[in-house]
Amino acid sequence: MSTDSESKGPEWQLPASGLARLHESLRAAGYQVIGPQVVNGAIVLRELSSAGELPFGWGVTLAPGGYRLRRRDDAAAFGHSAGPGSWKQFLHPPRQQLWSARRTADGGYSATAPPDTDAKLAFIGVRPCDLRAIQIQDEVLGADAHPDSAYARRRSAVFVVAVNCTEPGETCFCASMGTGPQAGPGYDLLLTELAGPDDHNFVVEVGSPAGDALLAELEPEPADPSVVRRARASVSEAAGKMGRTVQADGLRDLLARSHGAARWEDVASRCLTCGNCTMACPTCFCTTVEDVTDLSGDHAERWQSWSSCFDLDFSYVHSGPVRYSGESRYRQWLTHKLGTWHDQFGSSGCVGCGRCIVWCPVGIDITEEVAALRAELGEPQAGT
Ligand code: SF4
Ligand code: SF4
Repeated sequence: MSTDSESKGPEWQLPASGLARLHESLRAAGYQVIGPQVVNGAIVLRELSSAGELPFGWGVTLAPGGYRLRRRDDAAAFGHSAGPGSWKQFLHPPRQQLWSARRTADGGYSATAPPDTDAKLAFIGVRPCDLRAIQIQDEVLGADAHPDSAYARRRSAVFVVAVNCTEPGETCFCASMGTGPQAGPGYDLLLTELAGPDDHNFVVEVGSPAGDALLAELEPEPADPSVVRRARASVSEAAGKMGRTVQADGLRDLLARSHGAARWEDVASRCLTCGNCTMACPTCFCTTVEDVTDLSGDHAERWQSWSSCFDLDFSYVHSGPVRYSGESRYRQWLTHKLGTWHDQFGSSGCVGCGRCIVWCPVGIDITEEVAALRAELGEPQAGT
């Protein structure tokens, strides 16, 4: 389904009870099913032992540095914005072993790759911004001549059930970044949820042969045209309800000539260089490696874990970090994310999910920083 063009394929309709059948069919097909659920006051992504664990009736209130669950006045399962964790935790885990080595009797050593214990994953409830973030990580980690083999292996087995966004949050700006609220390509099935006092339905679209086969097991009805119209309208309206906007055009060039901007000092005076924004960001991919040995010295392991350009160690060369000041580290993050990412990977590194705004402990807002840079460098945001 598209908000501004006709759907490429037929649309189907499932009642809310169809989510349980979808979950059961995915489990029967051997998938570990991951989706949103309420845990400790937040909507996080975890294994769903049943569709009943989805956050029916829960929404969220978002603000810079603020996140609260709230009760909705309907039973929507996907009526919430991006939570603290993104899908990258499953495809590009926070910590993973790269190899281990054992000393051999002849004084040499033998190295072994970690066993492939990854389950086949099905993601339910992938929002359009996060669908695009997965594609960006595909380009970074899964493409080119030397892909991250563990990422590529996990990614190749994922079944994606995306959900069009009908209710963006106060910190969302995916419409500005061209990544939502309508999902782009990359899903196996796409849902649009319609939850009201009288009905609770999903319009379903198919994006792959695997999605087609799975949907057939659910025996959906052809979608009622009036339901499809309501679904389209609700996604269209979501584009106008984003809490934030960014003027995305020209950002690469803006950032390229921003090196001496006074705004960097201003934001550095507020930034704690904690790295929360990079951990929460669905596209940040930087890692570090650590070698560990046991006390005997006969066994060693190399582990990879997420790192951040806000860490002093991240740019440590010889006797010190290249980016010592907080100012240089914030500038590095934003300049890469919105500027040089284009040169490296052919797109922006930001999908407008707003997580970095919500999970920044001092509420630094990337959209405000961009607007301030535009103003300082003589390119006011359109409409201001
Ligand atoms: S930079 Fe912020 S808004 Fe953009 S993708 Fe990362 S977390 Fe989301
Ligand atoms: S911008 Fe916010 S979340 Fe990111 S490093 Fe600075 S204080 Fe931490």
